[in-house]
Amino acid sequence: MHYRDFHRESIANPDEFWRREAARIHWETPFDQVLDRSNPPFARWFCGGRTNLCFNAVDRHLAARAQQNALVYVSTETGIERRYTYADLHAEVNRMAAVMRSLGVGRGDRVLIYLPMIPEAVFAMLACARLGAIHSVVFGGFAAPSLAARIDDAKPALLVTADAGARGGKVIDYTPLVDEAMARAAHAPPKVLLIDRQLAPERLNAPYLVDYEPLREQHYDVQIPCEWLESNEPSYILYTSGTTGKPKGVQRDVGGYAVALAASMEYIFEGRAGDTMFTASDIGWVVGHSYIIYAPLLAGMTTVMYEGTPIRPDGGIWWRLVEQHRINLMFTAPTAIRVLKKQDPALLRAADLSSLRTLFLAGEPLDEPTAEWISEALDKPVVDNYWQTETGWPMLAIQRGVEALPPKLGSPGVPCYGYDLVLRSEHTGEPCAQGEKGVITLGYPLPPGCMQTVWGDDARFVKTYWESVPGQQVYSTFDWGVQDADGYVTILGRTDDVINVAGHRLGTREIEEAISSHAAVAEVAVVGVNDAVKGQAALAFVVLRDANAAASPADAQKLAAALAATVDRQLGAIGRPARVHFVPMLPKTRSGKLLRRAIAALAEGHEPGDLPTIEDASALLSIREAVSAGNG
Ligand code: ATP
Ligand code: MG
Repeated sequence: MHYRDFHRESIANPDEFWRREAARIHWETPFDQVLDRSNPPFARWFCGGRTNLCFNAVDRHLAARAQQNALVYVSTETGIERRYTYADLHAEVNRMAAVMRSLGVGRGDRVLIYLPMIPEAVFAMLACARLGAIHSVVFGGFAAPSLAARIDDAKPALLVTADAGARGGKVIDYTPLVDEAMARAAHAPPKVLLIDRQLAPERLNAPYLVDYEPLREQHYDVQIPCEWLESNEPSYILYTSGTTGKPKGVQRDVGGYAVALAASMEYIFEGRAGDTMFTASDIGWVVGHSYIIYAPLLAGMTTVMYEGTPIRPDGGIWWRLVEQHRINLMFTAPTAIRVLKKQDPALLRAADLSSLRTLFLAGEPLDEPTAEWISEALDKPVVDNYWQTETGWPMLAIQRGVEALPPKLGSPGVPCYGYDLVLRSEHTGEPCAQGEKGVITLGYPLPPGCMQTVWGDDARFVKTYWESVPGQQVYSTFDWGVQDADGYVTILGRTDDVINVAGHRLGTREIEEAISSHAAVAEVAVVGVNDAVKGQAALAFVVLRDANAAASPADAQKLAAALAATVDRQLGAIGRPARVHFVPMLPKTRSGKLLRRAIAALAEGHEPGDLPTIEDASALLSIREAVSAGNG
């Protein structure tokens, strides 16, 4: 099949296209309308059809693959390894659903899941789907104020948590965080279900805490039927990372999501029933929702869930997992690959990677040196794919299951079927010419699987996403891109990373790219801060390959001048940062996203406020120190 025809068909004739794809899942009641476009920019898919995500992910496979592994769990934090067949998974999900029901959870209720990477998190999400409850997974380890804000937005009937998470050998107690969030929240749920991993001291003293284990025993053989939901009822709420602002509660449907994920498994991931997929992400992110849990299970695959870091006990752990579990598909973020690149290459070569077909990377730009390194080291296709919490599945990728177009370094590929993706001028809203930088937009309707609305706030959905491009009712991704003659798009950064220096609009990412082309630079973040004269000024925070290169003030000054000269050459003097600070590391979320918002706040002397969990909080400290010392 030719990609071009396939894509064109999906845009010209979405009703026909998605009617065909809908046959991938079980419909208890068939839908009577593929697409309802009566209320743009809202779209309703598979209207009148009744289905259930849990049924499609679990029950449906019992006939053919009850004894196949559905979930393989590996924790290098606790040393625990468990395997659940589809029959086991079915039993555990029933137990969890029965316990939730006994605590009053029913159709349409929200359940906030604040759990580390443990199998119970999967059971809890699928149990919600089974009951028709709406899960809202909050990344485990989020600080109490962030958790409280999400509780107040979702108003859950139940919160599910664990005694502790673990990362890099360090135990993180969850219950004090939950206690504080419960106290802060105006809409605290009546009960908190506790999965006791016995990592933290017993703290079952709060009146709302309920221990899961005895309830599980009590409901061991209870069968809970799947609640048949109309395709457009909500399945979950997931808050965006909050890299750029107040997190938005992305709401997703049931039927459209199931169909979109099942289709993506064939056309983008080339995953087949019986395959094993390892998505090294967290259930708290959209990649975890879609590609640790729902998509591989919908497709009858085995999913590998991993708790731990990529370098503990050593940098070969992921490659050994591939060998041991005969993993066929692997999916992670470029940041993890950059970490692994610093490890001994012998660790990768020592593992038998013959089962692995493809590596998928998403979440942030895949820089060329990293792409080159990993493609060569693995000698397998590496598929960069671009999407957002809002879309639920890739917008840009080489869709190898449609046509294996050649990859181009620096680009995540071409628009995925279903997405009417157009680059538009931020001033006129008109489509850009080839090679011209523009905002990446999507035409109406968004394909199945994308967000339905912002939870509880239709007006914010319309205003935020559909009214930001002048003169057009199109969805804005808030990312910049440029498209070449073959349709390949390169991501140039986020629209809110633009700063205004003396009337010139500059993308911080372009300045970053110029700086990182200097051989001494390992990583860089550029942010804009208020400047009395110029409006804004660009500050660069640079991590050096060799920290000693800027050890003396004279060296630091020389290097800063060299970096400024590099920017002058590539962008012109207007892009030159007002100051260059050398820091040991940059603050990032656990999913590897640079926290420019926090860096900018610190650079202007404020506290960063509501933040996603930072991989290493001491990174903030070093930014603060660099700013107050005024080095560089
Ligand atoms: P918030 O919207 O709350 O600020 P966020 O945008 O960081 O948070 P996500 O939805 O997790 O939250 O991230 C999606 C964004 O990540 C995209 O809009 C894009 O900026 C970036 N991104 C994702 N994949 C890629 C990729 N393959 N290449 C470049 N950038 C990517
Ligand atoms: Mg975003």
